[in-house]
Amino acid sequence: MKTYAGLARLFPNSFPAKVFLIAFIGTHIPLIATVYFLLAERGGVMANLEICIVMLVATLVGTTATLFGLRAILKPLFLVRDAMEAFEARRERQALPEDFNDEIGKIMAMTNRLIGDVDLDLRRRKSAANTDPLTGLLNRRGFDQSVGPAAVGAIIYVDLDHFKSVNDRFGHDVGDTVLRQAAQVLAGAVRTGDVLSRFGGEEFVIFLPEGDLTAAKAVAERARAALASKVHIEGVAVTGSFGVAITPTPAGDISETIRQADAAVYAAKGQGRNRVLTAARAAGQAAS
Ligand code: GH3
Ligand code: MG
Ligand code: MG
Repeated sequence: MKTYAGLARLFPNSFPAKVFLIAFIGTHIPLIATVYFLLAERGGVMANLEICIVMLVATLVGTTATLFGLRAILKPLFLVRDAMEAFEARRERQALPEDFNDEIGKIMAMTNRLIGDVDLDLRRRKSAANTDPLTGLLNRRGFDQSVGPAAVGAIIYVDLDHFKSVNDRFGHDVGDTVLRQAAQVLAGAVRTGDVLSRFGGEEFVIFLPEGDLTAAKAVAERARAALASKVHIEGVAVTGSFGVAITPTPAGDISETIRQADAAVYAAKGQGRNRVLTAARAAGQAAS
C-alpha cells in the first residue's frame, strides 16, 4: 500500500495516472541512459539532431498510446465503480461481464454476486417490514408506504365484532385462524389496485383509489356480506362493522379520512354491529 499511498499524493483522483507514472519511469530510465550514451559518443545533441527529434517524437507517440491503452485496459475497473455507484445511489443493478478469469474478471463476477445478494436481502427486509406475518397482508407501515399521506380515494375501516369473545371461548389459535380467514374473504372482496391491510389486532383498512362514496359503500357492503356468510365458528357467523369515508379532493388527507372511517365503525358498533356506515364529512360524526 505504501507505493499506492505515495502515488495518491501525486494523483489523488486517477488510478491510470499512477500506473502510467510507473510505466513511464520503467521505460524512460533505459531510454534516457541509451540516448545519453549515444550522444556522448557521437558529439552531443547538435551533432545528432535527427536522432534526438526521432526519439522525442517516438516518445510522445508512445506516451500518448500508453495513456489511451491504460484507460482502455482499465475499463472493467471503471465499470465496477459505476455499477457500485448506480446501486448505492439509485438501487439500480448494472450487470458486469462474467466471462473473464483474471483478477479484474473475478472482481467483476464477485461485484455482480454481492450486489445481487444485497439487493435480495434489502428486498426481503423491506417486504418483511411491510407485511403482517399472520395474514400475509400489508401491515400499517406497508399500507402507509403503498398509499401515501395525500392519496385521493375512499377508506373502508373494518373491525371484527366481539372478537375478544372468540379468543375467550375458542382460544387464541382459533382466533388467529379466524383472522386469516377474514383476511382472505376481504381480499376476495376488493379489486386489483385496492390496498388491503391489517392495521392491527382485528382491524383491517382498505384503500380504494376512486373517491366515489357510493361505490366504496357497495364494496364495503359486499365485503360485510361475504364475511358474515363465509367465516363461521361452530355455526356462529363472524361478522364485522364497517366504516366508509372519502378523502377531500384534490388533496387527500389519509390519516384524517381513516379517523373518520374509524368513527363510522364506532357508530356502527353502537347501532348493533355487522353493518356499514359512511362517515359524515365533519370529523367525529357518523351517519348512514
Ligand atoms: P367489538 O365488537 O366492540 O369490536 O369487540 P371486540 O371484542 O372485537 O373488541 P376488543 O377491542 O375488545 O377486542 C379485540 C380483541 O382482538 C382483543 C385481542 O385479544 C384480539 N386480538 C388482537 N390481535 C390478535 C391476534 O393477533 N390474534 C388473536 N387471536 N387475537 C387478537
Ligand atoms: Mg378493535
Ligand atoms: Mg372488534
